Amino acid sequence: MAKQDYYAILGVERGASAEEMKKAYRKLAMQYHPDRNPGDAKSEAKFKELNEAYDVLKDDQKRSAYDRYGHAAFENGGPGAGGGAGGFGFEGGLGDIFEQMFGGGRRGGGERVQAGADIRAQVEIDLEEAFTGVKTNVRVSTRMTCDACTGTGSSDKNAGADTCGTCGGAGRVRAQQGFFLVERTCPTCGGSGRVVRNPCRVCAGAGTVPREKTLSVQIPAGVEDGTRIRLSGEGEAGPKGAPPGDLYVHVSVSTHGIFQRDGANIFCRVPLRMTQAALGGEVEVPAIDGTAAKVKIPAGTQTGDQFRLRGKGFSVLRSTQRGDMYIQVAVETPQNLTRRQRELLEEFEAESKSHKTGSPEHEGFFAKVKEFFEGRS
Ligand SMILES: [Zn+2]
Ligand SMILES: [Zn+2]
Repeated sequence: MAKQDYYAILGVERGASAEEMKKAYRKLAMQYHPDRNPGDAKSEAKFKELNEAYDVLKDDQKRSAYDRYGHAAFENGGPGAGGGAGGFGFEGGLGDIFEQMFGGGRRGGGERVQAGADIRAQVEIDLEEAFTGVKTNVRVSTRMTCDACTGTGSSDKNAGADTCGTCGGAGRVRAQQGFFLVERTCPTCGGSGRVVRNPCRVCAGAGTVPREKTLSVQIPAGVEDGTRIRLSGEGEAGPKGAPPGDLYVHVSVSTHGIFQRDGANIFCRVPLRMTQAALGGEVEVPAIDGTAAKVKIPAGTQTGDQFRLRGKGFSVLRSTQRGDMYIQVAVETPQNLTRRQRELLEEFEAESKSHKTGSPEHEGFFAKVKEFFEGRS
């Protein structure tokens, strides 16, 4: 049998205040305390369960993690496992703060309802996948409509709902925050203004239960690092039939071993042998689409010279256009010379002393050095 909901164990509503939970806990703890029920295994189990539930719910961080992830939050690898609520818990906490500050929630049909929370997922793809676009699966922890009560939050199909005592049915409460009087969604009824009389035991009246789900996401071709894709209505189910939140998929693109991207353009640094650069020639370079392209290198090419391959860049998002690829040349000084290579280069060097082979910039430098020393003497 599935583990029972902590709120249900305490017999309180999901939005119950710390004070309400304390009261409920005390009452039940007295009832099931082993001293009062000597030898009663059932009571002992109940007492243990009660303590476990209260231990989580009395701690704001643990409670927030539990609200988001359910029991999974405290299982191995869960965001709440091993003490602190971790990064996820913090994010949830922030969301709650915004929720409180701005009220959140979409309103529908004139009644104030709090929509399901938005959730966030992270997807990492490589540069080639970003080029072609890719269909990928994301697994998210979310809340889905409770099957037991079909989302009504009530254990009794005929039981009605009472006006919420906390907000008097308004769905919003006011609270002093520093100098400001802020209005926020009522924590007891979640903004609906009504509370169910007999809360569902599975979801404690929330109408939703924590679940994991896997969604297929189409990442479009040309996507950039840091892009956020919104999947409308794929967030958490809304409490008591309210509209669902959205899922935001954050796409990060890993760095590539050959290509660097800048918008629609791609840069590729290609090492060139000194002699190739001096004599000129042709080099074959890869392109992001998996093809190979030939680049003509003119004689006398220098490090940093750039050659453009039109239309070999990235596809532009939602367009058939493509950017360009730039080949950036780096001329390499040869190392580990053979005896023959050394002879040839020595011969080459002897010839170079009587014939200027440097670039104009190079020659310009030595002219400036000459001026520099002449100016000092
Ligand atoms: Zn339920
Ligand atoms: Zn209320």
